[in-house]
Amino acid sequence: MKVIGIDIGGTKILGGIISTNGNLIKFKETPTQAKLGREVILKNLFNTIDELIDEDTKGIGIGSAGRINFDTGVVEYATDNLPGWTGCKLKEILEKKYKIPVVVDNDVNAAAIGEMWLGSGKGYKSMLVMTIGTGVGGAIIYNGELIRGSSWSAGEIGHMILYPEGRQCNCGQRGCLEQYASGTAIYKEYNELLGEEKVSSAKEVFELYKENDDIAMKVINSFIKSLTLSILSLKNIIDPEVFIIGGGVIGSKDLWWDKLKIILGMDVNVVPANLGVRATMFGAAKLILDAIY
Ligand SMILES: [Zn+2]
Repeated sequence: MKVIGIDIGGTKILGGIISTNGNLIKFKETPTQAKLGREVILKNLFNTIDELIDEDTKGIGIGSAGRINFDTGVVEYATDNLPGWTGCKLKEILEKKYKIPVVVDNDVNAAAIGEMWLGSGKGYKSMLVMTIGTGVGGAIIYNGELIRGSSWSAGEIGHMILYPEGRQCNCGQRGCLEQYASGTAIYKEYNELLGEEKVSSAKEVFELYKENDDIAMKVINSFIKSLTLSILSLKNIIDPEVFIIGGGVIGSKDLWWDKLKIILGMDVNVVPANLGVRATMFGAAKLILDAIY
């Protein structure tokens, strides 16, 4: 028995044939070509599925960026990272084309399910998964179930207001966590403090931090502070067994993880995600497996 798990991101579509016990049988990676709009994204999605599907495939699980209606499989809202994606009736389109059951969920929700199934969340029933990359995403699992929210936007912790009247966020609010604790925020803050455009990625700032660069120290310390503030607030609201932190910034965790743990103290159980970029793909497969069995 096997299903297909798919992760639709702004730059790549990752697809895999995955067995009931989580073995990856075949893997396929395709550029999303998101800038070219919905029809091209769909074409690349179909190509990915066509490469993987055979008569034994029992269903397709999709994790997509954006706010996804899990009941209908419609993309309720997607940012400009996926132009034209808003309103796409993904479940309907795929079920019509492939004649097998399809589920669609938000990519971070799917990643959280993946981590609970095969990654750092194994053995836990309630967890908060944070992904820190270009932005900050989140997903909440309580008693083994995803909390999706009344309008499919639960767990959007990147837009919790951390500093009232703070930096302008692209969501319209000011002072969102994402403006302080994302990879983007890290390198932008560095350039701002320096007064010139020196770096273009968080990775470069972490490199400078290693060399005891004054500004990098300041930026990374403030990143850790914002992250701990958000985790402590969320702990008081949700009280999960574990916080799982993933996303691109986790690649530099050796430089900041110990500090984070010390500030958080013994009462907060925080662990790094360990499925990496394939968490969403595996989680999407698990979602369809759960839906058909
Ligand atoms: Zn925001």
